[in-house]
Amino acid sequence: MESIGFIGLGIMGKPMALNLIRAGYVLTVYDINPEPLEELKKAGAMIAASGKEVARNNAILITMLPNSPHVKAAVFGENGIFEGIRRDAILIDMSSIAPAASKEIAEGLAKKGAHMLDAPVSGGEPKAINGSLAIMVGGRKDIFDKVYDILMVMGASAVLCGDIGAGNTTKLANQIIVAANIAALGEALVLGKKAGVDPGEIVKAIRGGLAGSTVMDAKGPMMTAGNFTPGFRIALHIKDLNNVLETGHEYGAPLPLTSTVMEMMQWLKAEGLDALDHSALVKYYENLAGVSVSEQ
Ligand code: NAD
Repeated sequence: MESIGFIGLGIMGKPMALNLIRAGYVLTVYDINPEPLEELKKAGAMIAASGKEVARNNAILITMLPNSPHVKAAVFGENGIFEGIRRDAILIDMSSIAPAASKEIAEGLAKKGAHMLDAPVSGGEPKAINGSLAIMVGGRKDIFDKVYDILMVMGASAVLCGDIGAGNTTKLANQIIVAANIAALGEALVLGKKAGVDPGEIVKAIRGGLAGSTVMDAKGPMMTAGNFTPGFRIALHIKDLNNVLETGHEYGAPLPLTSTVMEMMQWLKAEGLDALDHSALVKYYENLAGVSVSEQ
């Protein structure tokens, strides 16, 4: 089996790396936080001391880091991937970052004759654990074909959306739709609560109809239980919507819905609630209306 270098073992990266080990790949892992490394070691991974070391020993590299500056630091920082990367190596960056940053990083790696795909994911921690993520990819078709089997260990689908950056543009589209969906769900459930109808019954009654969605199935029960354990933190969604707005402004695509939900999230941040799951958007409406969806 091929060997793979994996950098970034947080909420998402750790289960994705564990799935690759279970599928038989030989993994070398690295994270600036030593905490998750022990569990990976027990599962059979080799631990590297830097991104440079990971890159020196593997022709296929995966990164799963928070945002553009983290990926740039991991690639071009001291003892980073760039220092060790081999000619014809492939970096699959699965982080959700700005499409412009993906293009910049790919151009830098090309100077060493290495290739890159941007391949962010959707589905959150549960789908990272059971290997059923939706993976959206940008880059060259021949490079995508080479790593397709690896992607399909972590995902239920992997779709090549276009050239480098197209994966992250698709992810931004995904994040607009998810944010607006969660906001609409929160608005609807607070209306129900205010008007005296049990929000749990509302979800039960409408989830099979046109309003039903993966967002409703995942986030409806969290809102009605008042359980906002992440999942996907508000702080990360703010990061994505920042990238959405920047990209929209760069290309001249007005984003009125995104900017409205962004400001709701800014209220949560100002209230010190941005470490909660993004389903906590319902709290914005609860605060406006003076009710709690989860209260019996
Ligand atoms: P996380 O914060 O849990 O994990 C990030 C990991 O990267 C941490 O372990 C951190 O120590 C490590 N790291 C940061 N900088 C580093 C560096 N320079 N070198 C090596 N390691 C470094 O984040 P996460 O929730 O796993 O998310 C990762 C990416 O996946 C983000 O872009 C996020 O938007 C995206 N994503 C997350 C979810 C989710 O539900 N959590 C869903 C889909 C996509």
